[in-house]
Amino acid sequence: RVSIVGSMNADNVVEVETMPQPGETIIGGPMAVHAGGKSANQAASCARLQLHTDLIGAVGSDASAEFLLHELDDAGVGIGSIEHVEGPSGSTIIVVDPHGENFIVVSSGANGKVDGGFVHRHSEVIERSDILGLCLEAPLQVVAESSRIAHAAHTRVVLNISPMPEDLNPSLKHCLADIADIAVMNEHETAQWLGLAYEPNLESDWDDLHDQLCATGLGRVVITLGAAGSVILDGSQALHIPAFTVQPVDTTGAGDSFMGSMLASLASGNSLDSACEVASAVSAFSTLGKGAQSSYGDTQQITDFVLN
Ligand code: ADP
Repeated sequence: RVSIVGSMNADNVVEVETMPQPGETIIGGPMAVHAGGKSANQAASCARLQLHTDLIGAVGSDASAEFLLHELDDAGVGIGSIEHVEGPSGSTIIVVDPHGENFIVVSSGANGKVDGGFVHRHSEVIERSDILGLCLEAPLQVVAESSRIAHAAHTRVVLNISPMPEDLNPSLKHCLADIADIAVMNEHETAQWLGLAYEPNLESDWDDLHDQLCATGLGRVVITLGAAGSVILDGSQALHIPAFTVQPVDTTGAGDSFMGSMLASLASGNSLDSACEVASAVSAFSTLGKGAQSSYGDTQQITDFVLN
């Protein structure tokens, strides 16, 4: 069993020819609405692999709430620990230009009403799961409280250190490192975390990077490298997991697909190495369709993809 605590958003996406300047009004293309939010994406990716997955979080009292719950339910996510609160659901406004450049405004809505007390009402769900998945779209207090419940119940915590907090400082890093039994981040986030002027790539000195990560309190870390795959750093020799070769259509949500499928594989009893190999296949498949949750494959689709 996997539990995930965090955010879900209705992503409102509109394509434009050129980005509007401040004060300017422009005409864009049709508005597309996708189910998003990092935690919801991760839960959907995990549940599509037939792993029992519960999402703990909140939707509002608007029309988006039904849409978000329907999409999660369709993916097989357990929605019994998602509460309805007064007001709007979490949403984003995303404006994309033909170069793929974007502007994103996040309105937390119901996600902002999840607090420590909220998590406590659903503590049993965390306690009976093998793995808890967290990311930093949820408030720090929620992340900390969820991990406290998990650790007391010997539930392993995988923390996706994304998005990177603006107020990152050594004590916050140590607090997050204490939470994470395994940390997952991409190459941009790794550079931000370590204050590096460059982004790690396959040529990097991984032993040195692991030493630097350990100095911030982290132990086991998975760094995703987009089309270059991922690297596991856990004190033994760094292990590179290659990406599958694909012609991507849209890489939105690939990182969430990687995290969700990694959670599914770990909770099935697989090693971190095997879990990252599964995640490599599942996340590559997710780049073949548009959107995040809408592009995630189920067990049959992933099996066919790997065998072909
Ligand atoms: P994020 O979406 O958080 O930036 P990444 O871009 O690192 O994360 O992607 C996460 C994982 O998705 C990668 O480790 C890789 O396994 C897979 N992936 C991403 N882009 C591609 C691609 N172009 N081809 C194949 N796999 C990809």
